[in-house]
Amino acid sequence: MISLKHKKDCCGCGACYQICPKQCIDMRCDVEGFLYPNVDKRVCVDCHLCEKVCPILHQEKTEDKYLGSILAKNRSDIRLNSSSGGIFGELAKVILSSGGVVFGAAFDNKWMVHHIAIESVQDIPKVMGSKYLQSETQKSFIETKKYLEDGREVLYSGTACQISGLKAFLRKHYDNLYTVDVLCHGVPSPGIWERYLSSISQEYCSDIEAINFRDKISGWHNYSVSIKFCNGDLYSENYEKNKYMNMFLKDLILRPSCYSCKFKKMERKSDLTIGDAWNIENVMPELDDDKGTSICITHTDKGTKILDRIKDSLKMAEIELDTILAEDADSRKPVIMPGGRAYLFFAYRHNANFNALCRTMKNTKKNKLLKKIIRNREN
Ligand SMILES: Cc1cc2nc3c(=O)[nH]c(=O)nc-3n(C[C@H](O)[C@H](O)[C@H](O)COP(=O)(O)OP(=O)(O)OC[C@H]3O[C@@H](n4cnc5c(N)ncnc54)[C@H](O)[C@@H]3O)c2cc1C
Ligand code: SF4
Ligand code: SF4
Ligand code: SF4
Repeated sequence: MISLKHKKDCCGCGACYQICPKQCIDMRCDVEGFLYPNVDKRVCVDCHLCEKVCPILHQEKTEDKYLGSILAKNRSDIRLNSSSGGIFGELAKVILSSGGVVFGAAFDNKWMVHHIAIESVQDIPKVMGSKYLQSETQKSFIETKKYLEDGREVLYSGTACQISGLKAFLRKHYDNLYTVDVLCHGVPSPGIWERYLSSISQEYCSDIEAINFRDKISGWHNYSVSIKFCNGDLYSENYEKNKYMNMFLKDLILRPSCYSCKFKKMERKSDLTIGDAWNIENVMPELDDDKGTSICITHTDKGTKILDRIKDSLKMAEIELDTILAEDADSRKPVIMPGGRAYLFFAYRHNANFNALCRTMKNTKKNKLLKKIIRNREN
């Protein structure tokens, strides 16, 4: 049965939880706000299935199939509501229009994120756009399998570790399954996000109506985090000034597995990898209209096929991977855990509210000392 020695050895993909024939695994929130499997040993029959499907325990060698990379922009309005060039929305459209099913990360009514299945084009906006916290896969691998066995086309999108978990769970190749992963910096703690939501709702004395992590109102390069409140108020601030994004981009609130990520390599389980073409302003400035351009990397023939189905809706240009990703090292190798992470989560465990968590980031003498003491204690 699954028994984790170190937190870093679990990316939270949920494959073990979903495969267990005795349903004796549940995903429980830890003291940092991330989910981990917990086994009811009284019910476990030691079948080892949970270990077999774990993408961290079993790192199968994947053929390094790099079939090319492109820069792409959706010609339609989908792009404005997407994080970068709007490739994902178009892929979703083509699958749904031919009777398929699409899985992606969506907000729930408490503004937490989990994977959902959609079956109609009207629902595409729910799964579009990056949500910068870990998405719960819940029972989406089981549902995916059911749709595949029914002969429907399925497009499943997520982080590279989620796609690896899904493929391990399925344990079989399906011609009707398409997978897309994102170039992934890492996933922040849903627990920290919850504290942020509570703080901003209190500040605006209102519930939330809509959230956009990547609002292009001031341009794509200089994107804003926007939150619409039910009382009609709007919060919109540049990503560098937003306190939650600041914690995320300083790598302070990522899942432990993200600091030793084994999935960021270019040999991937997915058919396509999508990301932000940030370096376009240096590489092909003539294409950069500051409304969002994606990079799309093809790993398999199925990836080539599905890209071919949407090519008329995209403006595309071939590009060398090393050139376009030159400035985005974090998407190809794990980030380094900063010294202040342990102190911030120490405060989180002791019920600090979001503003108090922000204070742990200040460069004061007291904080430096506390950071050192807590880090030494936890090592
Ligand atoms: C947590 C996270 C970290 C990222 N880090 C980088 C990075 O370092 N460098 C880079 O170039 N790009 C990164 N991206 C990808 C980037 O933000 C865009 O998602 C990508 O460029 C695709 O944009 P799009 O316009 O084609 O489609 P969009 O419509 O923006 O597509 C977003 C896709 O991401 C999925 N998704 C959204 N939130 C989550 C989540 N929490 N967990 C799993 N899947 C999710 C959606 O289901 C959808 O498939 C990251 C995305 C996420 C979610
Ligand atoms: S060993 Fe089998 S029964 Fe036990 S937790 Fe794992 S999958 Fe479930
Ligand atoms: S990585 Fe996935 S399969 Fe492995 S223990 Fe964690 S949740 Fe389970
Ligand atoms: S950085 Fe790696 S482990 Fe973390 S969410 Fe992304 S793919 Fe998964």
